[in-house]
Amino acid sequence: MAAKWIISLILSGSLFFSPVLAQSKGQKASFDGQAAFDTVQALAADTMLGRKSGELGGRMAAEYIVSKLKEWGLEPAGVNGSFYQDLKIEYFEPEKGAALEILAWGKKREFVYGEDWRQQTYSGSGHLAADIVFAGYGISAPQKGYDDYSGLDVKGKLVLFSTDSPRPLEDKLKDEAQFQSRVRAAQEHGACGVLTFRSETPPSGFFGGFRGNLKKEAYQPDFVIISLENRVVDFIFKHLKTELRYLFQQIETTTKPQSFDTGVRSFINLDITYDENRPTRNVLAKISGSDKNLKNEIIMLGAHFDHLGIDMTGDVYNGADDNASGTAVVMEVARVMKLNRAKPKRTTVFALWAAEEDGLLGSKYYTENPIYPLDKTLTYINLDMEGHGSGRVNFRGVYYGPEIWDILKARLPKDLLDNVNSGRGGPGGSDHTYFLSSGVPAFFVATDGFHFRTNRVGDVIGLIQPEILKKAGDFVGAAVEVLATEPVIPVLSRRRENYYWKYQTIVNHEVPALDKVIEAHKDVQDPDVDFQLAAVVEKEGATGDVLRIEALKNLLAGLEKIRESKGLSAYSGAVPSMMGGRRMFGGQPAKTTVLVGLRGVATFRDDPRWADVFSKQGAAFVWLDRPAALLGDQGLNDEGKKIVAAIGKANLLMVVSGLDPAQNKLVLESANKPLFLVVSSQPSADILELVKKTKSSIGLILGKDEDPAAYFRKLDEAKKAVGAEILAIVAESCLWGKPGKEQMVGLIGEMLKAKYESEDLANLFSGAFMSVLERARATDTARASMFMPF
Ligand SMILES: [Zn+2]
Repeated sequence: MAAKWIISLILSGSLFFSPVLAQSKGQKASFDGQAAFDTVQALAADTMLGRKSGELGGRMAAEYIVSKLKEWGLEPAGVNGSFYQDLKIEYFEPEKGAALEILAWGKKREFVYGEDWRQQTYSGSGHLAADIVFAGYGISAPQKGYDDYSGLDVKGKLVLFSTDSPRPLEDKLKDEAQFQSRVRAAQEHGACGVLTFRSETPPSGFFGGFRGNLKKEAYQPDFVIISLENRVVDFIFKHLKTELRYLFQQIETTTKPQSFDTGVRSFINLDITYDENRPTRNVLAKISGSDKNLKNEIIMLGAHFDHLGIDMTGDVYNGADDNASGTAVVMEVARVMKLNRAKPKRTTVFALWAAEEDGLLGSKYYTENPIYPLDKTLTYINLDMEGHGSGRVNFRGVYYGPEIWDILKARLPKDLLDNVNSGRGGPGGSDHTYFLSSGVPAFFVATDGFHFRTNRVGDVIGLIQPEILKKAGDFVGAAVEVLATEPVIPVLSRRRENYYWKYQTIVNHEVPALDKVIEAHKDVQDPDVDFQLAAVVEKEGATGDVLRIEALKNLLAGLEKIRESKGLSAYSGAVPSMMGGRRMFGGQPAKTTVLVGLRGVATFRDDPRWADVFSKQGAAFVWLDRPAALLGDQGLNDEGKKIVAAIGKANLLMVVSGLDPAQNKLVLESANKPLFLVVSSQPSADILELVKKTKSSIGLILGKDEDPAAYFRKLDEAKKAVGAEILAIVAESCLWGKPGKEQMVGLIGEMLKAKYESEDLANLFSGAFMSVLERARATDTARASMFMPF
């Protein structure tokens, strides 16, 4: 109490000194890097216990922040006139003292938590000694003729299995091979837990370690779910009269399980605290707008204040850079605005989010339960990691909020702008994510350059530089001031739909001639169209070798021009930056990737070997529109067979359009490779069956003037029948133009109304097409199956 009294005395005393004096002389106080540093120091102290949401440390950090905001005179902006917005999060945490020992043939070995083994999320607790039973892949599908549990007694035992899948059975066991299903199988067979490992070393960069992605239904209080490093599995097998690789080889070749009781015992001690509804809270403060018309509009500045808590060995994760730094910058901007008696026209909200480290839960909750209407929230600026780096400031999100960036560019002083790296931005990585997907133009500010020890124990106050905090603070403080006072800030219509339009990878299936594509788009900047199909130019009237040589020259010249252009890039096999059908750009401006192909078979009809030449030189597909001449009554005629075989052999994707249902059926029945079948109406069940069987994808044409709502009903029917993974939207309109875009934005509106998952949108817009392209272009079946969505 005494200390508090002295502090308040000092504080009231300070009113007579410099800051307010400066104010009275008309000088504005500016962002104080040292003051922000002091805040970081308080938040990153060991006594804050790593600020984990759902724990004491998280609570103390929130209380500290609120006490400061109150002290500085900020208005509460939380629920019911408070500074808080309460929410509940799922809390899952292993307790100290986790241990795992293996007793094999009289030898006991202890393994290190975090290095040799760890639990999966939704593991229960266990204090047990149990036998280990090897069960191959842990898959139980007796109805489909494969059961790793057949003849096995696992009651009260630990089931050891690989999380990979038996390759010959992959397609058949799609559901049963889900990790969730394998865990359930062990539970249903009465096991007390599972020990999992990876039998195959993943291709580098393809997967990280194994993460189960279980749903909470997997949780049973006394059922442990543990991942082992291979050295632990090696120890279990060390003295057994068999070898793992042999067992998996046997399963592959015979498709028969190879399960057995190992006779090896395991001792496990694992205490899990799992709480489905752990309370935590966001902190919100504001400065109310002074303009009677604009005060209902919101400018929001935010940062997460939570971090990772304390680990099993007692080390505190102080999270000074991540993200005491961003929190401190937001708070300091607020403090200085109050100090300067700022009277912004719009209401300025300062948000400090909880549970970012648990999956952006605090900001997600806010966007689902907004205190201020999101359609009146003109922008959200997010700060995460502002304490290290080169001194420049990264400002990501200009592709998604160009209207905001234009204002900042016009109004901010040159010296501030000169220090900013603006970037495309997009969702992911921090709390701007759910604002973007709610349609709010949202930006991500982080200081540029190297950040030390992110998410590691050494992220401490000693590495934080006050002058770098100030760089971030000067920029966002000025940006907030501009945005809170600018007379008019446009609010675009259909913001949410437009966000998805921009975020989705868009394929323009229109196939203009390659030289037209280059001419029209060579200088595009950050285009909405991500992939553009283009046709090799064929000389009119030419035939045979003259036609081929001219076409080949045009292809090579076109690809060269693409390489030299600013806005285009050429498709070259797999697209490494695809994630679930969406293209990842990071901060880089996007280029449109041009996919060149052949329209028709004129260039190789009389000499099918030429299909291979075009493919090797960079062509990716052959589009056959109404190829009726290749069809007989029973399927492909002799010439058709030859041509289709040549296209397949050349690893070109065959696109077929314009045929009637009977003809489509004939083509699919004689397809020897996956193809892209373009249709204008909902295909019949037998065609869909054939599409699946041939691992093809289907494109449903969106007509030039078709009403988006009417089209959506067709698309939804087809999606129900065949799944979004192999269904693509093929717009007839050019998507570079306004009408095409409007139509698509309308369609997105229908999809969002129907609550389509983001993953579905990704597949429908590009994933189904890109994946069939990969499947058709794969040179061997093993690689092809990597691209199968099943
Ligand atoms: Zn962070």
